Order: sequence, then C-alpha cells, then structure tokens
Amino acid sequence: MNQRRLRFHSILLSLLLFCSLAFSACSDTSAELPDQVLQAGFGLSGESSNLEVHFIDVGQADCVLIRTDEHAMLVDAGNNADAQLIIDYLDDLGIEALDYVIGTHPHEDHIGSLDSVIDTFEIGEVILPEKIHTSATFEDVLDSIEAKGLSITPAVPGEEYELGEASFLIFAPNADYGDNLNNWSVGIRLTYGSTSFVMSGDAETSAEEDILEAGYDLSADVFKASHHGSETSNTREYLEAINPSAAVISCGVDNSYGHPDASVLELFEELGIDVYRTDEQGTIIAISDGSNITFSTAPDAEGANASNNTDANASDNAEADDSSEATGTANGDSADDIIVHITQTGERYHAAGCSSLSDSDTEVTLEEARALGLTPCGRCNPPE
Ligand SMILES: [Zn+2]
Ligand SMILES: [Zn+2]
Repeated sequence: MNQRRLRFHSILLSLLLFCSLAFSACSDTSAELPDQVLQAGFGLSGESSNLEVHFIDVGQADCVLIRTDEHAMLVDAGNNADAQLIIDYLDDLGIEALDYVIGTHPHEDHIGSLDSVIDTFEIGEVILPEKIHTSATFEDVLDSIEAKGLSITPAVPGEEYELGEASFLIFAPNADYGDNLNNWSVGIRLTYGSTSFVMSGDAETSAEEDILEAGYDLSADVFKASHHGSETSNTREYLEAINPSAAVISCGVDNSYGHPDASVLELFEELGIDVYRTDEQGTIIAISDGSNITFSTAPDAEGANASNNTDANASDNAEADDSSEATGTANGDSADDIIVHITQTGERYHAAGCSSLSDSDTEVTLEEARALGLTPCGRCNPPE
C-alpha cells in the first residue's frame, strides 16, 4: 500500500469517526432515536443516509462491514489474528451493535475472529450455514454464541432480512455439500434503493451452478469475487447472471494460493468489470446513495495486468472507456492530486477561501471529496 492510499484511508476514517462521535454524543441508546435525528448527525454527505459497504483489508481472508443509519452487519470476520483490527475498525466508526453477523462458512479465514466480534459487540442474529465443523476456531464461535445467550439462525435460501432501509436475500447454500466447506458458503444479495451487491463467500463452481439453477435474481452492481478470486469459483455463467460493474477481491499480498487467479482477472476484464483489490488497495469502501455507487478509490490501475497475469497482450482499454454504473473516480490520476476543501456537514466541496468555509475547513483531495458523494460548490467554482 502506498503512502497516498494510507493517507486517504486515515482521512476518511477520521471523517467517519468524527461523524460517529458527533452522533454518539447525542445518546448512547441510538436505536430509540427517531430516524430524522439520526440522519441529521450521521450521513457522510450531510444528507439522508447512505449504505456503506466496507471491504476491510484483513489480508488473505474476508471481512465485510455493511451499515446504513444506525444499522450494521458483518459478513465474515477475518482470521483469528485479525480480531483487534476488526474491533478497532468498528470502534472507530462508533459501532456498538451489529444487527447480524454472517459466517459464510466455517473456514478460519472467514470465521477466525467471529468469536471476538460476538464477545465484543451487541449482536442481533448469528447467521451460519447448517454445517458443523470440528476445528477449534469453529468451537470458539459456538462458545461465544452460547456465552452471549444467542442462538444460531440457519441460512435458508429465500429468506429475506431487513437492515434499516436496505435488505438482503439469502440465496445459498442450496444443497448438502458434505465436507466441502467452501460450497456451504452463505450467499446474499444486498439491495439498497436500486443498487445491489452480491457476495457468496468461497462458493466454488458446483455451488455456483446450484445457485444459478435455484433461479434467484442475482443481478448486482458490485460483486465480491468468490473465494478470493480463485479459478475454482467465478465462472463465466455466474458472472453473467450477476452482471456487475465492479468486483472487489479480498486477498492477501503475495498470498501462497496465487489468488486472484490470472484467468479470473482476464474474465473480469473481458466482461468489462472494474476490479478493486484489498491486497493492492487496502480497505475498499463502496457507498451507495440508493441509485449510484461511489468507491473510496479508483479501480485497480493494473487491472488484468496485475502480477499474476501471464497474458502479455492484456490491455488497459477497459479503464479508458469507463461506462459502468459504479463510477468510482477513474478520471486518471489528477483527482488524486487536486486539493479541495470540505466542511463537517456540507454536501459541497469548495475552493480555498470560499465563504462557506468560515466555520469548518478540511483539506481533502478531489478524489476523496467525490468518494464522499460531495458535489462542487456553485459559488466558488472548485475544480471538477
Ligand atoms: Zn473457504
Ligand atoms: Zn476463504
């Protein structure tokens, strides 16, 4: 990860932290406050609430935080060693409760720190596939569930759950996969307004076939690449059914599995799917306003030319004609370098010295301002 990304990340976190603190100062019984009160102090852009999907960089593992208004949920919880990182990340956002935690399947890189998450936060429902595993990591999760007086909600395809104004439908697992834990992965389609996200853990080819056969609407703007971008998942048929504009790959730097696989990256490029990678870009945040999705960073510049690719002819053309709905901030690198000014609660970004900045004035890059959903001020004509 380079310095600029680190800096952006910390600025964004500071902003998020500020919003959370401003909000939690009002009350620590947030769930009882009316929506209008919550939205006034909460929305990143100062307007009504957004849906945020945080693909937290936990190395060769998965951990996705989803939140909107005062609601939040976690899909997978990294490896055992990631507990403090995940707890700190949620703490920094002022999150005290998770409406749902989903452990997609009992592999350590998905449920590793689920026990610590359950121990630490107020938990609504724990959703797991109906597959028992004998590992110590899995037993730790069961112990935490029991100690908290919770019970397991089995993942049943067709069940729909509400998360504030968002909702998610469970579409997998669809069969008894015996000891193939990956294929037991819980799959969800998360929708918010007209935007949607699909994620299905480490489900492999045969599970993807069963998902397609089950006939659910899988269409989504953003797809969390299955199994860290492995070639044992992410079939063409599955991708075509989802038809995403963007894919996020959660994997570790130089991981020993060779994830993501070069053939998967080539397929994403062929299908015109922008790629975001936690190994190259760190934590990636997608923000939906209900009709558009903005990413905290531009798509991975290397695209299909990334390290594992052996095809010398792969081109960068997919980056140039960016017509995807998930627009990101892919207007070259300039937006990274241009500094604009924002306020704590305003919906606009400004040029230096704008009269709107009299009460608060924070420097961010144009890219960051766009990622926060801000639009240019009409008075000071900042760079666009
Ligand atoms: Zn797995
Ligand atoms: Zn995995």
